[in-house]
Amino acid sequence: KTRPDWVAVEEFLTATVVHPDEALQRAVSSAVEAGMPPIEVTPNAGKFLKLLVQISGARRVLEIGTLAGFSSIWMARGLPDGGKLVTCEYLPKHADIALANVAAAGLGHKVEIRVGAALDTLAALHAEGHEPFDFVFIDADKEHNTDYLDWAVRLGRPGTVVVLDNAVWEGAVLDPSIDEANAPGIINALQVMGNHPQLDATVIQTVGSKGWDGFALARVR
Ligand code: SAM
Repeated sequence: KTRPDWVAVEEFLTATVVHPDEALQRAVSSAVEAGMPPIEVTPNAGKFLKLLVQISGARRVLEIGTLAGFSSIWMARGLPDGGKLVTCEYLPKHADIALANVAAAGLGHKVEIRVGAALDTLAALHAEGHEPFDFVFIDADKEHNTDYLDWAVRLGRPGTVVVLDNAVWEGAVLDPSIDEANAPGIINALQVMGNHPQLDATVIQTVGSKGWDGFALARVR
């Protein structure tokens, strides 16, 4: 007897429980049409992020890595009236498409897309001196993961929730030869999360349409 596979189960769960609407589907299809890589989170992970934003009562969300705005739309939907999501994207083309997708989702008033290298944007946000972020989602270039974690602590407050995507990467955390480019940044981030005096963290493994992966979840102490 053959077992149902991970992707079929994910499709069943998405259709049965998660129900991504037209605006979210648009965010995925627009990226495909523009030739962008299909590396957004899954719908079930996106909704998980939205629920985490709501459960934590976050009013200010910081995202590092926008792509076409799929995860931005999910998280912005978890914000209360007056809440705000700032998302950092390096490529102007990605930011333009994300801007259109966020507007089509009716979330333009809640989402600010900052174009440029995230490290520059994070330093600028710090210099501008905003209220602390309550929730941070890290999903960009893996080599800067540890810098992004430091910034999440700096721009956050005790109780800030930090989610870091791609924490398992097909097992490359134990065998970096699987992906020499990305594995070191992921491994370093996990070490920082496990040892940082201001972070209390865990990691959940996932399987599905994005293969074998996981996300790290931390709370700033
Ligand atoms: N969070 C998105 C979602 O789930 O819908 C997916 C983000 S995708 C995995 C990573 C994005 O980070 C890409 O759009 C890429 O251009 C962007 N990126 C890569 N390096 C960056 C950097 N140094 N600063 C800001 N964005 C960067």
